[in-house]
Amino acid sequence: MTRSGIDPIPPEISDSPRWQHSLRDAVRDVHELLEILQLDPLDANWVQPGADEFPILVPRKFISRMRKGDPNDPLLRQVLPARDELEEHLGFTKDPLQEISLAKAGFIEKYPSRALIITTSACPVHCRYCFRRHFPYETQLASQNHWAGALAALKSNTAIREVILSGGDPLSLSNRRLRELVAELETIASVTTVRIHSRFPIVLPERVDRGLLALLEQTRLKTVLVVHCNHANEIDEAVRSALQQVSATGTLLLNQSVLLRGVNDDVDCLESLSYRLFDSGVLPYYLHQLDRVAGAAHFQVEDSKALNLIADLRKRVPGYLVPKLVQEVPGELSKIPLV
Ligand code: SF4
Repeated sequence: MTRSGIDPIPPEISDSPRWQHSLRDAVRDVHELLEILQLDPLDANWVQPGADEFPILVPRKFISRMRKGDPNDPLLRQVLPARDELEEHLGFTKDPLQEISLAKAGFIEKYPSRALIITTSACPVHCRYCFRRHFPYETQLASQNHWAGALAALKSNTAIREVILSGGDPLSLSNRRLRELVAELETIASVTTVRIHSRFPIVLPERVDRGLLALLEQTRLKTVLVVHCNHANEIDEAVRSALQQVSATGTLLLNQSVLLRGVNDDVDCLESLSYRLFDSGVLPYYLHQLDRVAGAAHFQVEDSKALNLIADLRKRVPGYLVPKLVQEVPGELSKIPLV
């Protein structure tokens, strides 16, 4: 019998193509997105990215949570390429966290006791503020050579207890490939925890299929899933149900958000988000100040405003629903709290 009563079926048998079909069917054209949302393409501040730029990618089920006719919808703002992206701003660079110099074939030892594996370049959605929007995935994928470089590095450094699967989005990998990787991690005695950073359960909750749940439940490793949700409107009933199923596997569920101007930079939004997450079995973990990546300056919120927002939020919700306001600073051994 398993912890949550899920059948112990082999993940490769239970791989569902449904989420892959939804990804193939995602919107990749600005004009189509505007048409679905009944917005006038002549009215607004958007551009179609060029072939060599960060393309638009939005699954239709995520679009269905946006308000029609509202160019300021908070979910739309996260995915619609704005004309502001073309402006250059001092301090906003292609590699804001200086990861390129730290990464060795997709393996990053940024912090003591934890290491991060860049598993894939693929994502369920393209977030315009993403700090890896310019990341050179073509030279930085640990999946090349069946993870050999990353696994060798983990075996040689027994201080690393926790392995963070990142990307792109690691849940872009099939259950079979995920299980292969997790099985390799299980053979390394010093590794106790696998942490998955993913936006899939929020954007495409059907990714939480039986195979993935079985994998989370059956591994000997402690499992942590850190989802990425910025606004309460992202969580509908399907998302809530998927998160609750993950929680039932014994996986610790946390959320990290990015503080984004025009998306979630008011206390009502942050309060609704905290309560909606909690209702889905997720604790608000981090609220990140924006990483200064080129093309995202229009999302930046001043530190003074961010601090006031957290102070106001603290008056409204219990302490365990107040995320830590942090900024990632290249070269520091942990994220830097702003409060
Ligand atoms: S899903 Fe995550 S990695 Fe992918 S574009 Fe969005 S923020 Fe970046």
